[in-house]
Amino acid sequence: MSVTDNAVDTDLAVVDKAPESAIVIALRAALGDVVSTLPDDLAAARWDRSGLSAAGTPLCVVHATSVDDVSTTLRLANQSRVAVVPRGAGTGVVGGSFAGTGEIVLSLARMNRIIEINDVERYAVVEPGVINDHLDQELRKHGLWFAPDPASRDISTVGGNIATNAGGLMCTKYGVTREAVLSLQVVLASGEVIRVGRATAKGVTGLDLTALMVGSEGTLGVVVEATVRVHRQVPGSVSTVSAYFPSIRQAAQACSEISAANLQPMIMEMLDDRAVTAVHDYLELPPAPPGSSHVLVQTDGVSAHDDAMAIVAVMESCGGNASFAATEEEAHALVRIRRSLHPAMTTLGTTLIEDVCVPRTKLVEMFAAISAIEQKYDIVIPVVAHAGDGNLHPSFIFDTPEPPEVIWQAAGELFHAALDLGGTLTGEHGVGVLKRHWLGEELGDTQLKLQEQIKQVFDPHGILNPGKVFAAKPRDEHPLP
Ligand SMILES: Cc1cc2nc3c(=O)[nH]c(=O)nc-3n(C[C@H](O)[C@H](O)[C@H](O)COP(=O)(O)OP(=O)(O)OC[C@H]3O[C@@H](n4cnc5c(N)ncnc54)[C@H](O)[C@@H]3O)c2cc1C
Repeated sequence: MSVTDNAVDTDLAVVDKAPESAIVIALRAALGDVVSTLPDDLAAARWDRSGLSAAGTPLCVVHATSVDDVSTTLRLANQSRVAVVPRGAGTGVVGGSFAGTGEIVLSLARMNRIIEINDVERYAVVEPGVINDHLDQELRKHGLWFAPDPASRDISTVGGNIATNAGGLMCTKYGVTREAVLSLQVVLASGEVIRVGRATAKGVTGLDLTALMVGSEGTLGVVVEATVRVHRQVPGSVSTVSAYFPSIRQAAQACSEISAANLQPMIMEMLDDRAVTAVHDYLELPPAPPGSSHVLVQTDGVSAHDDAMAIVAVMESCGGNASFAATEEEAHALVRIRRSLHPAMTTLGTTLIEDVCVPRTKLVEMFAAISAIEQKYDIVIPVVAHAGDGNLHPSFIFDTPEPPEVIWQAAGELFHAALDLGGTLTGEHGVGVLKRHWLGEELGDTQLKLQEQIKQVFDPHGILNPGKVFAAKPRDEHPLP
């Protein structure tokens, strides 16, 4: 065991034996065994998948199994002014769900029932801890399916997807999580339970608090039940095409032209040459032509084949070497290249996966800006993009456990470049801890203040996920944990 491991173990042992704080005693008295101070539980909650961790160790983890558990936790925490960090599966990549000193972790993972599938009205009612892919698999037995498909769909929860407004590969055609959420049951910071939205296909009564909750990263309330829109499976095939391009500029050009041509792919994903090489190595595929970038497109519906043919024509006119997947196995193999990106990146070193979004027609300019940042800072930034949405995931690679200062400087330039092109700091991952310093630059002072006031209305004592999203101070005044 390393010195560091020893230090961590000792620290946790002390916490475990220390007298329990009044709030943990009160929670235990009210909730019993669902309140855990097991060292493994506390240690796991200090991390998410950003690679960063919280300072210190949380007070306890409440493994909620009912709305009552959530409501009681928030009521007691609010009375005692103790911070609560909602947590789904902890796959977030911006430090939104990790918890440290003095904080209660409120895990929704055990609230994982699918309550109703209504194939006439086309919705499903679920608890927040349902894994996205479990819901989709269950729906498919009823001839239905769930559109939000983050690359983490087999490990992330629907509640976490809602709280981050997660995107995914098929969002290009079917929309991000917000488009799938009809109604939510939410526990407020006070412990009160409210229902926002409605299960009808339409409805405009009052302000749209459902949309406000989606993407609020656990800072406004805790989602305890969701009614989500589902799609009926339609007969018709899916066509899959892919192309290797001699340069990223040509690949980006092809994607922008496909978008501009009003062709509507279901999936349009792009990998630059470094990402292609890493994935080919990881999957032990024959090497791709040197320097080549990869574009994967899937079309669906009755015009799937014709649309794919038109897309191949655009790809070839931009210098791509395009091919159709002749069988389902070939299509699956091509999609696997894209879905293997995250594990492939981890073989290159420590990674900080970024997430900016620009207008779909500005991909070429954004790739040029990334290339300039690489040269200026002498770093490599492999990029994968949900090109159909203009959403890029540049991965910063380094060999230290946490990002060195040069990476933060380069990331800051990346965000500015996206904003300058009319884009945004985050297309789908959220703000969390990672991007809070840059929030004001995109929102401007007036809107940032308005958003802080909204937070204050929902959470007057600031107990819900404090320090996440709304702490937009300059980085040197508010160092990362
Ligand atoms: C390999 C990999 C691939 C990924 N691919 C994608 C992708 O394609 N698209 C994408 O958008 N993201 C992606 N992500 C990021 C991540 O999976 C998503 O952000 C996901 O939505 C997080 O879900 P979770 O259950 O893990 O939530 P957590 O990480 O536990 O929490 C995320 C945030 O939501 C809050 N929260 C969680 N549950 C609730 C609740 N019930 N009520 C209120 N707040 C809550 C937390 O406080 C936190 O702020 C990927 C991550 C990994 C590791």
